[in-house]
Amino acid sequence: MSDNRPVVAVVGRPNVGKSTLFNKLAGKRISIVEDTPGVTRDRIFTEVEWLNKYFTLVDTGGIEPDSNDIILSQMRNQAMLAMDMAHVILFVVDGKAGLTAADKEVAQMLRKTNTPVILVVNKIDSQRQFDNVYDFYELGLGVPFAISSANSMGLGDLLDEVVANFPEGLNTEYDEDIIRVAITGKPNAGKSSILNNILGEERVIVSPIAGTTRDAIDTYLEKGDHKFLLIDTAGLRRKSKIYENVEKYSVIRSMSAVDRADVVLIVIDAEQGVTEQDTKVAGIAHDEGKACLFVINKWDLIEKNDKTMSLYTKEIREKFPFMAYAPIVFVSAKTNQRMNKILETVVYIAEEHAKRVPTSTLNDVIGEAVLLNQPPSDKGKRLKIYYGSQTGTQPPKFTLFINDKELTHFSYQRYLENKIRENFGFEGTPVRFDYKEKR
Ligand code: GDP
Ligand code: GDP
Repeated sequence: MSDNRPVVAVVGRPNVGKSTLFNKLAGKRISIVEDTPGVTRDRIFTEVEWLNKYFTLVDTGGIEPDSNDIILSQMRNQAMLAMDMAHVILFVVDGKAGLTAADKEVAQMLRKTNTPVILVVNKIDSQRQFDNVYDFYELGLGVPFAISSANSMGLGDLLDEVVANFPEGLNTEYDEDIIRVAITGKPNAGKSSILNNILGEERVIVSPIAGTTRDAIDTYLEKGDHKFLLIDTAGLRRKSKIYENVEKYSVIRSMSAVDRADVVLIVIDAEQGVTEQDTKVAGIAHDEGKACLFVINKWDLIEKNDKTMSLYTKEIREKFPFMAYAPIVFVSAKTNQRMNKILETVVYIAEEHAKRVPTSTLNDVIGEAVLLNQPPSDKGKRLKIYYGSQTGTQPPKFTLFINDKELTHFSYQRYLENKIRENFGFEGTPVRFDYKEKR
C-alpha cells in the first residue's frame, strides 16, 4: 500500500470566500480564520474528512490578502501551484460580484490542465440569487456548483463531487502505524540526495510530464518493522521554474509537509550553515508539536578536526534555543557517512513523541523536583502542585493540578520540563504543559 493522500486546492480571487469555505470544510480543525485585515494567514493546509475519506485541503491564496496591485500575477501563481500539486482544484468565484476579467484569465489556464477542476460559485445565499450562476457557464469549466459558504449551503454536494473526482490509486484512509517524515531544508541542501540515499536507488524526481511530479512528493517505504512516508519538499520545486524564485512558496511547501508529518527533518548544508528559512520551518515544527531532527548534510565537504562537531553543535543550539531537545546527526548523502542514523533516529524520536509515562512515576518525579527546588511564590502565596498526569501524546502533554494559575511561572515550568526529560527522555519532541486549578 502507499499513503498517497489526495490533495485538493482552492483557488480564486481575494474576497470570493475561499477562507470561509476552507474553514467550513476543515470543520473542527479551524485554523486560518483571521478577522484582522492584512494579517498573513499561516495555516493554509488542513486535513478534511468526508464520509470516512481523508484528503488534504490547500488554500493557495492565503498568502497576501492585501496586495491588490499584483492580484492577477498572484492568481496565476496560485493556479500554477494548484495544477502542480493538486488532484482536484476548486475554482471559487463570487456569485454576488459576478464574472470578472481575472476569473476568465484563470479559467483559461485551468481549462488546459488534466486535473479535474470544479467551478464553485460562492455567496449564493438564497434561491433568489441562483440566476447569478448562469453567467459562469461562460468560463467553460462545466456545470457550476452553487454554494453559500457563509450559510454552509451546498457543501455536501460539493464534497461528494470532490471525492468522486479523486484519481484511482490514492489513499484516503488514515493509517496510524506510518511514521510521516517531512524532509525540509533550503534548495540544494541535499534533500533529494538524502531521500534517494535512504531509498537506496536513483529515483527520478524531475519529470517533464504534467501531473507526474506530485506523485514523487511522497514516498512510502517499509524498512524492518517500520513503515515510513517520506514527504519530500524538493519534488515540486524542480518543475515550476516560474515560482521557483518566490521564497514564500518554498516555505509554504515546507509548511504543508510539516503539517502532515510526525517527524520533521531539518536538512542543513554544512558548508552554508543555518538559513532564515530553516529557523522559520523549525519554529513551525516546534509550534505544531512535531518531533524534530537536525540533519547536517555534506559533512564530507567540511575540513574537520576533533572540535568541529562540537562547534557545529554549539552553533545549532544557539540558533535554535527553543529546540534543545532535537538530536543532531552529521551525514553525507554523497559518501554515505552515518546515513543509517537518520531513519534510526526518526524511529526513536517518533516513539518518544508518542510515549506515555505512568502517572505514579510522573508524580514521583514531580514530587522530587518540588522538594529540590521550591515552586515560586507571589505576595506570600506559594504555587502548590498537587499532582500531575500525562494527558496527551504527539506531542506529550502534561496537566498539572495546582492551587492558583496566577502563580505559575515560565522558568519553573522549564525547570519541571528539564526534570521530566532527565527522567523520561522525550528526546526529539517538544512537550506541553497545561494547568488546572483545584481548590
Ligand atoms: P477570501 O479572500 O477568498 O479568502 O475570502 P473570505 O473567506 O475572507 O471572504 C470574503 C468576504 O466574503 C467575507 O466578508 C465573508 O464573510 C464573505 N463571504 C464568504 N462566503 C460568503 C457567502 O457564502 N455569502 C456571503 N454573503 N458572503 C460570504
Ligand atoms: P535539494 O535541492 O535539497 O533536493 O538538494 P539535492 O539533493 O538536489 O542536492 C544539491 C546538490 O548538492 C547536488 O549537486 C548534490 O549532488 C549535492 N549533494 C547532496 N548531498 C551531498 C553531500 O552529502 N555531499 C556533497 N559533497 N554533495 C552533496
